[in-house]
Amino acid sequence: MLNRVLNTAFEIGKEKTELGTVATYIPELGKADKNDLGVCISTQYGMTLCAGQCEKRFTIQSISKIINFAVALEKLGAEKVFERVGMEPSGDAFNSLMKLEKADSTPHNPMVNAGAMVICGYLTEICTFEEMLQHARRWCMDEEIYMDEDVYASEMANLSRNRAIAYLLHSKGYITADVEKTLDLYVKMCSLSVTAKSLANLGLVLACKGVDPKTNEVLLQPETVKIVNTIMFTCGMYDGAGEFALRVGIPSKSGVGGGIISVVKGTMGIGIYGPALDAKGNSIAGIEILEYVSKNLNLHMFE
Ligand code: GLN
Repeated sequence: MLNRVLNTAFEIGKEKTELGTVATYIPELGKADKNDLGVCISTQYGMTLCAGQCEKRFTIQSISKIINFAVALEKLGAEKVFERVGMEPSGDAFNSLMKLEKADSTPHNPMVNAGAMVICGYLTEICTFEEMLQHARRWCMDEEIYMDEDVYASEMANLSRNRAIAYLLHSKGYITADVEKTLDLYVKMCSLSVTAKSLANLGLVLACKGVDPKTNEVLLQPETVKIVNTIMFTCGMYDGAGEFALRVGIPSKSGVGGGIISVVKGTMGIGIYGPALDAKGNSIAGIEILEYVSKNLNLHMFE
């Protein structure tokens, strides 16, 4: 049953890849093949189902915001974290600067660039990139995750907009750490090379209240997971979050590398790789696939 739904969803998604475009504002991402597609489902009973390119590596991009956010919550606690970043959807593009200049300009949430930079500012002062990489490897159950040097260099060389955001936040006291170090950590985390399978594994940990269902090891505190999943549900798909919540109804987070991670409470993690994006920077095939899977397996939170 699960396999049949997955394979049909994959075929439906495959027809859509042609309609999207790969991200080019980070030139290295422009080299992706827009027809690539992979879906992986990882279940609480230890089953892993794959369709298409589940083992192909791509950069995690904004999905790293979940890892950054989780580490910050675990190390600093929610009260401290939310001193400098909000918990409301922005309704704006992920890299928007528009509202940051206003009087009360707290970045909307940790899932948009500005909010993620606040989180990276905190992290810069308390841990190293190496430590962050170890968290990513452990939580994704993928020891082969590495930082893609080419994508990192490409983003660093085209960072004007994110630099503008970070310096604006620094001028207003939302970032107190060294701005360049903060940006470096932010971009390094975006450049982690993952697979649809590693995302499905991370999704499963988030679906199981932070416990690795294979070993019963506690990887994240339940309170951290509750907060991360909630913010993912309301803000994870940027200015497409509302429509996505209605169509799919599963907490999810996208990245411009083409990845989507989805968390089905208590049951499964879903990881997708489909670099053809829609206008909001979300994988066009990925959304179709998740809509089909959600409908056919009854996974919508409010259905
Ligand atoms: N590295 C990208 C950026 O900051 C991540 C954006 C995304 O995946 N939406 O622009």
